[in-house]
Amino acid sequence: MDRRSLIKHAGIAGVLAAGVAPAAHAQGASIRWRLASSFPKSLDTIFGGADTFAKKVSEMSGGKFTISTHAGGELMPAFGVLDGVQNGTVEVAHTAPYYFFGKDPTFALGCAIPFGLNSRQMTAWMYEGNGLKLMREFYAGYNIVNFPGGNTGAQMGGWFRKPIKSVKDIKGLKMRLGGFAGSVISRLGGVPQNIPGGDVYQALEKGTIDAAEWVGPYDDQKMGFNKVAPYYMYPGWWEGGPQLDILINDKAYNSLSAENKAIVEAAASYAHVEMQAKYDAKNPKALKELVASGTKLVPFPNDVMKAAFKASMEVYAELNAKNPAWKKIYADYATFRRDQNLWFRFTEAKFDSFMQSQKL
Ligand code: CA
Repeated sequence: MDRRSLIKHAGIAGVLAAGVAPAAHAQGASIRWRLASSFPKSLDTIFGGADTFAKKVSEMSGGKFTISTHAGGELMPAFGVLDGVQNGTVEVAHTAPYYFFGKDPTFALGCAIPFGLNSRQMTAWMYEGNGLKLMREFYAGYNIVNFPGGNTGAQMGGWFRKPIKSVKDIKGLKMRLGGFAGSVISRLGGVPQNIPGGDVYQALEKGTIDAAEWVGPYDDQKMGFNKVAPYYMYPGWWEGGPQLDILINDKAYNSLSAENKAIVEAAASYAHVEMQAKYDAKNPKALKELVASGTKLVPFPNDVMKAAFKASMEVYAELNAKNPAWKKIYADYATFRRDQNLWFRFTEAKFDSFMQSQKL
Protein backbone atom coordinates (compact mmCIF):
# COMPACT_ATOMS: atom_id res chain seq x y z
CA MET A 1 0.00 0.00 0.00
CA ASP A 2 1.56 3.35 -1.04
CA ARG A 3 1.49 6.49 1.02
CA ARG A 4 -1.43 8.03 -0.84
CA SER A 5 -3.68 5.01 -0.36
CA LEU A 6 -2.70 4.87 3.33
CA ILE A 7 -3.94 8.43 3.75
CA LYS A 8 -7.04 7.58 1.74
CA HIS A 9 -7.75 4.54 3.95
CA ALA A 10 -7.13 6.49 7.13
CA GLY A 11 -9.58 9.08 5.85
CA ILE A 12 -12.24 6.47 5.21
CA ALA A 13 -11.59 4.93 8.65
CA GLY A 14 -12.07 8.34 10.20
CA VAL A 15 -15.40 8.84 8.45
CA LEU A 16 -16.53 5.36 9.42
CA ALA A 17 -15.52 5.92 13.05
CA ALA A 18 -17.60 9.09 13.14
CA GLY A 19 -20.52 7.25 11.54
CA VAL A 20 -20.58 4.39 14.02
CA ALA A 21 -19.76 6.42 17.12
CA PRO A 22 -22.24 6.04 19.99
CA ALA A 23 -25.28 8.30 19.92
CA ALA A 24 -23.73 10.32 22.72
CA HIS A 25 -21.17 11.65 20.24
CA ALA A 26 -23.70 13.04 17.81
CA GLN A 27 -24.33 16.71 18.04
CA GLY A 28 -27.22 17.56 20.31
CA ALA A 29 -27.57 13.98 21.59
CA SER A 30 -27.86 13.54 25.30
CA ILE A 31 -25.50 11.77 27.66
CA ARG A 32 -26.91 10.18 30.79
CA TRP A 33 -24.62 8.92 33.52
CA ARG A 34 -25.22 7.49 36.95
CA LEU A 35 -23.19 8.41 40.03
CA ALA A 36 -22.96 6.11 43.07
CA SER A 37 -22.06 7.89 46.31
CA SER A 38 -20.70 6.26 49.47
CA PHE A 39 -22.78 8.61 51.60
CA PRO A 40 -26.40 9.01 52.71
CA LYS A 41 -28.44 11.90 51.29
CA SER A 42 -29.07 13.20 54.83
CA LEU A 43 -25.47 14.50 54.89
CA ASP A 44 -26.09 17.47 52.64
CA THR A 45 -22.50 18.72 52.71
CA ILE A 46 -20.71 15.53 51.77
CA PHE A 47 -23.42 13.93 49.61
CA GLY A 48 -24.12 17.43 48.32
CA GLY A 49 -20.75 17.42 46.55
CA ALA A 50 -22.13 14.82 44.14
CA ASP A 51 -25.31 16.82 43.57
CA THR A 52 -23.33 19.99 42.89
CA PHE A 53 -21.09 18.17 40.42
CA ALA A 54 -24.12 16.76 38.57
CA LYS A 55 -25.93 20.11 38.59
CA LYS A 56 -22.96 21.98 37.15
CA VAL A 57 -22.41 19.38 34.42
CA SER A 58 -26.05 19.72 33.42
CA GLU A 59 -26.00 23.54 33.51
CA MET A 60 -22.77 23.87 31.53
CA SER A 61 -23.95 21.41 28.87
CA GLY A 62 -27.33 23.09 28.49
CA GLY A 63 -28.99 19.96 29.87
CA LYS A 64 -27.43 17.65 27.25
CA PHE A 65 -25.22 15.85 29.75
CA THR A 66 -26.99 14.72 32.90
CA ILE A 67 -25.85 12.64 35.86
CA SER A 68 -28.27 11.07 38.35
CA THR A 69 -26.91 10.81 41.90
CA HIS A 70 -27.55 7.81 44.14
CA ALA A 71 -26.93 7.40 47.87
CA GLY A 72 -24.77 4.63 49.31
CA GLY A 73 -26.73 1.37 49.20
CA GLU A 74 -29.12 2.51 46.48
CA LEU A 75 -27.36 1.00 43.46
CA MET A 76 -24.60 -0.82 45.31
CA PRO A 77 -23.19 -0.97 48.83
CA ALA A 78 -21.56 2.25 50.08
CA PHE A 79 -18.12 0.63 49.95
CA GLY A 80 -18.83 -1.13 46.62
CA VAL A 81 -18.58 2.02 44.53
CA LEU A 82 -14.95 1.57 43.52
CA ASP A 83 -15.73 -1.84 42.01
CA GLY A 84 -18.86 -0.32 40.47
CA VAL A 85 -16.84 2.26 38.53
CA GLN A 86 -13.98 -0.08 37.76
CA ASN A 87 -16.28 -2.60 36.08
CA GLY A 88 -18.49 0.05 34.48
CA THR A 89 -21.73 -0.69 36.39
CA VAL A 90 -21.88 3.06 36.95
CA GLU A 91 -19.89 5.77 35.17
CA VAL A 92 -19.09 7.78 38.31
CA ALA A 93 -18.55 7.37 42.05
CA HIS A 94 -18.20 9.99 44.77
CA THR A 95 -16.35 8.65 47.76
CA ALA A 96 -13.55 8.93 50.32
CA PRO A 97 -10.92 6.69 48.71
CA TYR A 98 -9.30 5.72 52.03
CA TYR A 99 -12.24 3.33 52.42
CA PHE A 100 -10.35 1.12 49.97
CA PHE A 101 -7.06 0.98 51.86
CA GLY A 102 -7.66 -2.77 52.32
CA LYS A 103 -7.22 -3.21 48.54
CA ASP A 104 -4.15 -0.98 48.61
CA PRO A 105 -3.13 1.64 51.22
CA THR A 106 -2.05 3.87 48.32
CA PHE A 107 -5.73 4.89 47.93
CA ALA A 108 -5.42 6.77 51.23
CA LEU A 109 -2.75 9.11 49.83
CA GLY A 110 -5.36 10.69 47.56
CA CYS A 111 -7.71 11.15 50.52
CA ALA A 112 -6.16 11.36 54.00
CA ILE A 113 -3.47 9.67 56.05
CA PRO A 114 -2.76 10.32 59.75
CA PHE A 115 -0.61 13.45 60.14
CA GLY A 116 -0.98 14.21 56.44
CA LEU A 117 -1.70 17.40 54.51
CA ASN A 118 -4.38 19.85 55.61
CA SER A 119 -7.14 20.87 53.20
CA ARG A 120 -5.30 23.82 51.61
CA GLN A 121 -2.12 21.79 51.27
CA MET A 122 -3.93 18.80 49.79
CA THR A 123 -5.54 21.00 47.13
CA ALA A 124 -2.12 22.53 46.37
CA TRP A 125 -0.56 19.07 46.01
CA MET A 126 -3.39 17.97 43.72
CA TYR A 127 -3.67 21.00 41.45
CA GLU A 128 -0.14 22.41 41.44
CA GLY A 129 2.05 19.64 42.85
CA ASN A 130 2.35 16.11 41.52
CA GLY A 131 -0.63 14.74 43.47
CA LEU A 132 -3.20 14.47 40.69
CA LYS A 133 -0.67 13.18 38.17
CA LEU A 134 0.62 10.48 40.53
CA MET A 135 -2.83 9.40 41.72
CA ARG A 136 -4.02 9.23 38.08
CA GLU A 137 -1.19 6.83 37.27
CA PHE A 138 -2.28 4.70 40.22
CA TYR A 139 -6.00 4.83 39.32
CA ALA A 140 -5.26 3.84 35.71
CA GLY A 141 -4.72 0.32 37.11
CA TYR A 142 -8.40 0.40 38.16
CA ASN A 143 -9.73 1.77 34.84
CA ILE A 144 -10.52 5.04 36.60
CA VAL A 145 -9.86 8.74 35.96
CA ASN A 146 -10.00 10.64 39.27
CA PHE A 147 -10.82 14.25 40.12
CA PRO A 148 -10.71 16.02 43.50
CA GLY A 149 -14.35 16.38 44.60
CA GLY A 150 -14.43 18.14 47.96
CA ASN A 151 -12.70 18.31 51.31
CA THR A 152 -14.13 18.43 54.84
CA GLY A 153 -11.18 20.29 56.34
CA ALA A 154 -9.56 19.02 59.54
CA GLN A 155 -12.02 16.79 61.35
CA MET A 156 -12.79 16.43 65.04
CA GLY A 157 -11.35 13.49 66.99
CA GLY A 158 -14.77 12.11 67.81
CA TRP A 159 -17.05 11.25 70.68
CA PHE A 160 -15.85 9.49 73.81
CA ARG A 161 -17.82 8.08 76.73
CA LYS A 162 -14.76 8.80 78.92
CA PRO A 163 -12.06 11.34 78.06
CA ILE A 164 -8.61 10.13 77.00
CA LYS A 165 -6.15 11.46 79.56
CA SER A 166 -3.00 9.71 78.39
CA VAL A 167 -1.82 7.21 75.80
CA LYS A 168 -2.54 4.43 78.36
CA ASP A 169 -6.26 5.13 77.97
CA ILE A 170 -6.08 4.02 74.32
CA LYS A 171 -5.30 0.46 75.42
CA GLY A 172 -8.38 -1.68 74.86
CA LEU A 173 -10.38 1.31 73.58
CA LYS A 174 -12.98 0.16 71.08
CA MET A 175 -13.35 2.97 68.62
CA ARG A 176 -15.17 3.39 65.34
CA LEU A 177 -12.96 5.38 63.02
CA GLY A 178 -12.67 5.87 59.31
CA GLY A 179 -10.02 4.86 56.87
CA PHE A 180 -6.43 4.20 57.47
CA ALA A 181 -6.30 5.39 61.10
CA GLY A 182 -7.23 1.96 62.43
CA SER A 183 -3.72 0.68 61.71
CA VAL A 184 -2.30 3.44 63.94
CA ILE A 185 -4.85 3.13 66.78
CA SER A 186 -4.22 -0.61 66.95
CA ARG A 187 -0.47 0.02 67.40
CA LEU A 188 -1.34 2.08 70.47
CA GLY A 189 -3.36 -0.83 71.86
CA GLY A 190 -6.78 0.35 70.66
CA VAL A 191 -9.33 -1.82 68.89
CA PRO A 192 -10.52 -0.10 65.69
CA GLN A 193 -14.09 -0.86 64.67
CA ASN A 194 -15.39 -0.71 61.15
CA ILE A 195 -19.06 0.18 61.58
CA PRO A 196 -21.27 1.77 58.89
CA GLY A 197 -22.37 5.32 59.74
CA GLY A 198 -25.99 4.33 60.34
CA ASP A 199 -25.11 1.85 63.13
CA VAL A 200 -22.62 3.98 65.05
CA TYR A 201 -25.15 5.76 67.26
CA GLN A 202 -26.61 2.53 68.63
CA ALA A 203 -23.19 0.95 69.24
CA LEU A 204 -22.07 4.02 71.17
CA GLU A 205 -25.31 4.21 73.13
CA LYS A 206 -25.13 0.53 74.15
CA GLY A 207 -21.46 0.76 75.02
CA THR A 208 -20.51 -1.85 72.41
CA ILE A 209 -17.91 0.75 71.46
CA ASP A 210 -16.23 3.35 73.70
CA ALA A 211 -15.76 6.04 71.10
CA ALA A 212 -16.65 6.99 67.56
CA GLU A 213 -15.53 9.60 65.11
CA TRP A 214 -17.44 10.74 62.07
CA VAL A 215 -16.61 14.16 60.60
CA GLY A 216 -17.15 17.40 62.53
CA PRO A 217 -19.81 19.40 64.36
CA TYR A 218 -22.25 19.93 61.46
CA ASP A 219 -22.48 16.26 60.47
CA ASP A 220 -21.97 14.82 63.95
CA GLN A 221 -24.84 16.88 65.37
CA LYS A 222 -27.17 15.31 62.80
CA MET A 223 -25.98 11.85 63.85
CA GLY A 224 -26.88 12.72 67.47
CA PHE A 225 -23.63 11.42 68.96
CA ASN A 226 -23.68 14.16 71.62
CA LYS A 227 -26.68 12.43 73.20
CA VAL A 228 -24.70 9.26 73.93
CA ALA A 229 -21.12 10.43 74.53
CA PRO A 230 -20.31 13.69 76.32
CA TYR A 231 -16.63 14.19 75.44
CA TYR A 232 -15.78 15.63 72.04
CA MET A 233 -12.05 15.28 71.53
CA TYR A 234 -9.90 17.13 69.01
CA PRO A 235 -8.22 17.31 66.60
CA GLY A 236 -8.82 14.37 64.25
CA TRP A 237 -5.10 13.89 63.64
CA TRP A 238 -5.87 11.09 61.18
CA GLU A 239 -7.85 13.46 58.99
CA GLY A 240 -6.18 16.85 58.76
CA GLY A 241 -7.75 17.50 55.33
CA PRO A 242 -9.52 14.49 53.86
CA GLN A 243 -10.31 14.83 50.19
CA LEU A 244 -13.37 13.32 48.57
CA ASP A 245 -12.96 12.14 45.02
CA ILE A 246 -15.00 11.90 41.85
CA LEU A 247 -13.99 8.65 40.19
CA ILE A 248 -14.92 8.14 36.54
CA ASN A 249 -14.75 4.93 34.52
CA ASP A 250 -12.01 5.52 31.95
CA LYS A 251 -14.00 4.17 28.98
CA ALA A 252 -16.89 6.48 29.82
CA TYR A 253 -14.54 9.42 30.29
CA ASN A 254 -12.61 8.76 27.08
CA SER A 255 -15.86 8.57 25.10
CA LEU A 256 -16.59 12.23 25.96
CA SER A 257 -15.93 15.10 23.58
CA ALA A 258 -13.20 17.59 24.51
CA GLU A 259 -15.95 20.05 25.54
CA ASN A 260 -17.61 17.55 27.85
CA LYS A 261 -14.27 16.59 29.37
CA ALA A 262 -13.69 20.27 30.15
CA ILE A 263 -17.20 20.49 31.64
CA VAL A 264 -16.50 17.50 33.89
CA GLU A 265 -13.21 19.03 35.05
CA ALA A 266 -14.76 22.43 35.79
CA ALA A 267 -17.80 20.93 37.55
CA ALA A 268 -15.56 18.78 39.75
CA SER A 269 -13.44 21.81 40.69
CA TYR A 270 -16.57 23.78 41.58
CA ALA A 271 -17.83 20.95 43.79
CA HIS A 272 -14.38 20.67 45.35
CA VAL A 273 -14.31 24.32 46.44
CA GLU A 274 -17.95 24.39 47.51
CA MET A 275 -17.73 21.49 49.96
CA GLN A 276 -14.95 23.05 52.00
CA ALA A 277 -16.80 26.37 51.99
CA LYS A 278 -19.97 24.67 53.27
CA TYR A 279 -18.16 22.90 56.09
CA ASP A 280 -16.32 26.05 57.15
CA ALA A 281 -19.54 28.08 57.08
CA LYS A 282 -21.72 25.54 58.89
CA ASN A 283 -19.41 24.06 61.55
CA PRO A 284 -19.14 27.04 63.97
CA LYS A 285 -22.91 27.26 64.59
CA ALA A 286 -23.17 23.51 65.13
CA LEU A 287 -20.20 23.54 67.51
CA LYS A 288 -21.78 26.32 69.59
CA GLU A 289 -25.06 24.41 69.76
CA LEU A 290 -23.31 21.20 70.81
CA VAL A 291 -21.42 22.98 73.60
CA ALA A 292 -24.66 24.66 74.73
CA SER A 293 -26.27 21.20 74.92
CA GLY A 294 -23.56 19.97 77.32
CA THR A 295 -20.82 18.63 75.04
CA LYS A 296 -17.37 18.97 76.60
CA LEU A 297 -14.49 19.83 74.27
CA VAL A 298 -11.27 18.04 75.23
CA PRO A 299 -7.96 18.20 73.35
CA PHE A 300 -6.00 14.98 72.83
CA PRO A 301 -3.10 15.04 75.31
CA ASN A 302 0.31 15.70 73.82
CA ASP A 303 1.60 12.22 74.65
CA VAL A 304 -1.25 10.72 72.61
CA MET A 305 -0.46 12.99 69.67
CA LYS A 306 3.24 12.16 69.86
CA ALA A 307 2.71 8.39 70.21
CA ALA A 308 0.23 8.42 67.31
CA PHE A 309 2.66 10.43 65.17
CA LYS A 310 5.48 7.98 65.89
CA ALA A 311 3.26 4.97 65.15
CA SER A 312 2.10 6.58 61.89
CA MET A 313 5.66 7.16 60.69
CA GLU A 314 6.45 3.50 61.48
CA VAL A 315 3.47 2.38 59.40
CA TYR A 316 4.66 4.54 56.47
CA ALA A 317 8.24 3.22 56.70
CA GLU A 318 6.91 -0.35 56.58
CA LEU A 319 4.73 0.45 53.57
CA ASN A 320 7.73 2.06 51.80
CA ALA A 321 9.54 -1.24 52.17
CA LYS A 322 6.78 -3.43 50.73
CA ASN A 323 4.53 -1.38 48.43
CA PRO A 324 6.23 0.26 45.40
CA ALA A 325 3.14 2.33 44.43
CA TRP A 326 2.88 3.68 47.96
CA LYS A 327 6.62 4.36 48.11
CA LYS A 328 6.66 6.37 44.88
CA ILE A 329 3.68 8.55 45.75
CA TYR A 330 4.42 8.91 49.46
CA ALA A 331 7.95 10.17 48.67
CA ASP A 332 6.48 13.08 46.71
CA TYR A 333 3.71 13.64 49.28
CA ALA A 334 6.20 13.71 52.18
CA THR A 335 8.46 16.27 50.48
CA PHE A 336 5.46 18.45 49.69
CA ARG A 337 4.19 18.13 53.31
CA ARG A 338 7.58 19.17 54.71
CA ASP A 339 7.74 22.30 52.52
CA GLN A 340 4.10 23.20 53.19
CA ASN A 341 4.59 23.02 56.94
CA LEU A 342 7.70 25.16 56.67
CA TRP A 343 5.72 27.81 54.78
CA PHE A 344 2.46 27.69 56.78
CA ARG A 345 4.42 28.03 60.01
CA PHE A 346 5.24 31.64 59.13
CA THR A 347 1.88 32.56 57.69
CA GLU A 348 -1.43 30.81 58.49
CA ALA A 349 -0.23 29.23 61.75
CA LYS A 350 1.02 32.51 63.21
CA PHE A 351 -1.79 34.65 61.82
CA ASP A 352 -4.59 32.23 62.80
CA SER A 353 -3.26 31.73 66.30
CA PHE A 354 -3.06 35.51 66.89
CA MET A 355 -6.56 36.11 65.50
CA GLN A 356 -8.07 33.27 67.54
CA SER A 357 -6.74 34.81 70.75
CA GLN A 358 -8.36 38.20 70.09
CA LYS A 359 -11.74 39.29 71.37
CA LEU A 360 -13.67 40.10 68.22
CA1 CA B 1 -13.80 10.87 59.95
